[in-house]
Formats: sequence, C-alpha cells, structure tokens
Amino acid sequence: NETVSKNFIEQEIDKDLAEGVYDHVCTRFPPEPNGYLHIGHAKSILLNYGLAQEYDGEFHMRFDDTNPTKEKMEFVDSIKEDIKWLGADWKQHLYFASDYFDQMYDCAVKLIKKGKAYVCDLTAEEIRQYRGTLTEAGKESPYRNRSVEENLQLFEEMRDGKYEDGTKVLRAKIDMASPNINMRDPVIYRVAHMTHHNTGDKWCIYPMYDFAHPIEDAIEGITHSICTLEFEDHRPLYDWVVRECEFTMPPRQIEFAKLYLTNVVTGKRYIKKLVEDKIVDGWDDPRLVSIAALRRRGFTPESIKMFIEMCGISKAQSSVDYAMLEYCIREDLKLKKSRMMAVLDPIKLVIDNYPEGQIEYLDVPNNLENEELGTRKVPFCRELYIERDDFMEEPPKKYFRLFPDNEVRLMSAYFVKCVGYEKDEDGNVTVVHCTYDPETKSGSGFTGRKVKGTIHWVAAPTAQKAEVRLYENLVDEEKGVYNKEDGSLNLNPNSLTILKECYVEPSFQDAKAYDSFQFVRTGYFCIDAKDSTTENLVFNRIVSLKSSFKL
Ligand code: ATP
Ligand code: MG
Ligand code: MG
Repeated sequence: NETVSKNFIEQEIDKDLAEGVYDHVCTRFPPEPNGYLHIGHAKSILLNYGLAQEYDGEFHMRFDDTNPTKEKMEFVDSIKEDIKWLGADWKQHLYFASDYFDQMYDCAVKLIKKGKAYVCDLTAEEIRQYRGTLTEAGKESPYRNRSVEENLQLFEEMRDGKYEDGTKVLRAKIDMASPNINMRDPVIYRVAHMTHHNTGDKWCIYPMYDFAHPIEDAIEGITHSICTLEFEDHRPLYDWVVRECEFTMPPRQIEFAKLYLTNVVTGKRYIKKLVEDKIVDGWDDPRLVSIAALRRRGFTPESIKMFIEMCGISKAQSSVDYAMLEYCIREDLKLKKSRMMAVLDPIKLVIDNYPEGQIEYLDVPNNLENEELGTRKVPFCRELYIERDDFMEEPPKKYFRLFPDNEVRLMSAYFVKCVGYEKDEDGNVTVVHCTYDPETKSGSGFTGRKVKGTIHWVAAPTAQKAEVRLYENLVDEEKGVYNKEDGSLNLNPNSLTILKECYVEPSFQDAKAYDSFQFVRTGYFCIDAKDSTTENLVFNRIVSLKSSFKL
C-alpha cells in the first residue's frame, strides 16, 4: 500500500541504498527445524519476503540446523509446506546452515591464527561464573593466553574426536570487561558427539548460534538480517564475527518486536504437553495457532497477511488480540464465499398445506453482496429442518422468529405461519407445523404484507447429515492463560463442542478439504482436512459472524 508510511526497517533500507552501503536487498527466513511454525513466525516470513519483493531483491529460505540435539527432518518438511502456503517463494534459494560447516570451521581457524580465539577447558558452569554479571566485571579464563600453535592443535583435536562432550570449547577472545556480557569471550564451538540429520557423523564439534548465524548470512550475501528484539544485545558480537572473519560485504542486523497474541498458547512445551495429554488433536488442532492449525481451522494466507499488516512492524513489544485475527478472516471471506444453509441444532418443520412428495428447486443467490458468485438450486419441500432456537412456545418480547400464530420468511423461499407443534414425553418440541402462502415466494415481488423475522432451513429428504465442530478459546480468558500457583494452563473446558446431527443442503458434493463457506446466520466454516469424507462431512467453525472487535 503506497499511501501507508514506511516502517522503520524500510526507512533503514532506503537509507542504506541511498548511501550506497548496499546496491540491492537480500533477506532470509532462518528457522531452526525444531518445531512447527506459528503465527509469530508468519510475521517474520511475510516481513522478510515482503521486503525482498518490495525492493526487487532476493529472499532466502535457510534452515538454521547447527544444533543436532533438537532438529528433525519432519520439521524441515512441515516448515517448507507452511512457508509455501503463506505464499513466500524462495525460488532456487533453499539453504541449510549445516552445508556451511566447513566454512565455519575455516573461520574459526582464521580467528585462532589472528589470536582472536582460544580453546578453553573450564566447565560450562565455570565459564558462566567467570563471565560475571551486569554489575560485576568478568574474570579471564586461565586458558585465555594459550599460544596460537597450541590452540590450533587443540581445536584440531576437538574436531578429530579426542575430547568428551563438555570438556573443551573454543571461545572468541574479545573483552572480559565489556559492559555487554555477550562480548565476554563467548563460546563459539562446542564438542557434541552426535549424529546430525544432514552431515551424519562427519562432525563432533558444532558452532554456537552467535558465531554461526552471522557467517551464514555473510556467505549467502544477505544484506539485511532481520531478527527479533532479544538479539539486540547480540548485535555487537554479530558485527565482530563478520568483521574478524573478514567478509567483504557485511550484512546488517536489524531487530523488531515479536508478535504476541493475547490469551493464546504459543509455548512449545505447553503445546507438546497438550498433544501428549490428548487435550488437543495434534499440533494442527484448530484451537492452536501453529500455521498448520490455522490452515486446518480455515484461515487463509490472505487473512494472515492482512493481520500481520495491521499489526505493523515496530520495536515496541505489545500483544495483539485474537479478535483482530478473526476480523481479518471475516473480511477476507465475506465476498469470496458462498452463503449456504446449514441447521446445526435441528427440529422438523412441516408445511401442512404443501403437497406431499413434491420438490421444487429454488434459485438462491450464493452471496447477496457479490453477484459474481452466481446462484444455485436449492430443493424445497413439505418437510424441512430449522434451528431449535428459531421456535419458541412462549416467546419473550422482541422475539420475531417462529411461535404460534406468527409468520416469518423462510430464507429465499416463502412466508410460513406457525399453526401448531408437537412435543415428546420430555416436553421437547419435535415438530413445528406451519402453512405457507404461495404468493409470497421470494423474488416474486410480493409486497402484500411484511414479516419481521427471516430464518434459514434445509429440506429434510435431500439434506446431508454433517458433523460440526465449534471452537472457543483453549484457555480461560477470565482467569488468564497461566495458573498463578503452578504455572499450568487454565484450560477452558468448553473449547470444543462437537455437533453430530447437523443438516446441510445437498450442495457440498464437490467440497474438498479446506474449502470454506458461510453458513447463513451462524458463521464461517471449512471442511476439516483430517476427518471429513464425502459420506461424513466434518466442518470446523472458523469464526462466528459477530465480532467484538472494532477497527
Ligand atoms: P519459537 O521458540 O517460538 O519457535 P524461535 O525464535 O525459536 O521461536 P526460530 O525457528 O529460531 O524460532 O525462528 C525463526 C525466525 O522467526 C527467527 O528469525 C525469529 O526471530 C522469528 N520469530 C520467532 N518467533 C517470532 C514471533 N513471535 N514474532 C516474530 N518473529 C518471530
Ligand atoms: Mg523455533
Ligand atoms: Mg530459536
């Protein structure tokens, strides 16, 4: 959108281009393949991809797979699928940081030769203590002044598997008195006798993130390395690594605030527990906010883009309401989707004066706000299903739907007047009897009288039975996400309602996984990709029609 003023990252890029720091733009999205992507990652993906597009530059997809302990191929595949779905196209630029292990090793050797790195035998705990705190200066390691020759030999031996995990590390030799603890001789390589999913058993030493990441960026010619705020304090180290390793075109790190959603669970360990305890149906349960879950719930890439744009890019940490995401999906689907009739909690309606056995096909517009979606034929007959709460024996004031002697419009069909009802032994209404007036057919131009209520319906003989799943927030918004005592989640016991006896029009024969629709008066729904079949349709409620969110 040209009229919207540029965000601070765009302003920085403009400046870099104007000053000739760079003559092009190259960005990247660098996930660690250790879990599924969530809505927060979408922000980073769309930001990086969007900048590359805006500046006619390049976008790289890079798996930051330098830590073999947590990474899996399963996640590589799911991450690729999610990014493609969001519409970010990395073209031929798919990279794995582990493919750079040789170059990283060479960089480490270069640092040793320059006297800028040393092998240290302190334990992890000792290193932590020696590094000091914000208020207390660091203390130099007794191994800090080993000779270049000794360091070269020890580092080679580390690589060759001579040392156990945790017994030796390589550290950058920077400044133990720096006010920035990241600069107090950070560890850049550690020993880990582990099989890596890409490089197998070739390596038993692995580079640390703060060393590997700038090298990855520099190797690929990234110009703007965009990351989240927690890395702000790491930027001096990022710059140090790029400079000391003598890369000719240094990339520039820019930080922005993470996206947080209010009252939503994003922490990996919480979700893992919910999956293990079978409280949710996998990582793509429609109540979660992983990209896979949002897709299964019926969110579209367009709605997520709109949401991310509305959130904006800034350096100020804040939390966004889930209702804003709901607003975006409603906006996206409003004019694009057909408005179908579905009865979620059915009772029968019998039109006593309509000929038995007759079916007429009514022309129903698919979307009154968008004629381009055309019309469809909807069967109408003597026996219909309507919503249980569209009938009341004794209505309160301002109830304009069906009650004895009241007349309403059956949407896209006729006026009907309630002439009686039947109840079962428990007193539940089972059948509502009406008469219809053929003169009042929708589209006939009838103006003889008016009714105040319009209700939806589905013809009983041709209706298809369906399962509908209604979702509410997984956590209790009143109590807050986390239990104050033990840190566990305050779960909402009503986060999932399964309705097994719903009836939909016979217009869903060709509906495929993820297809979505409006059910008139009820909300937006999509075909569940895991459980729906042609015979047994399963719909997920994406969002209800009403919103508490105001722009
Ligand atoms: P998580 O622990 O939630 O998976 P992460 O930081 O470990 O997050 P990575 O795979 O390391 O995830 O991150 C990939 C990229 O996504 C990083 O550049 C990171 O800054 C960005 N990112 C992660 N979470 C968010 C968020 N909530 N908002 C914006 N960007 C994010
Ligand atoms: Mg991650
Ligand atoms: Mg991470």
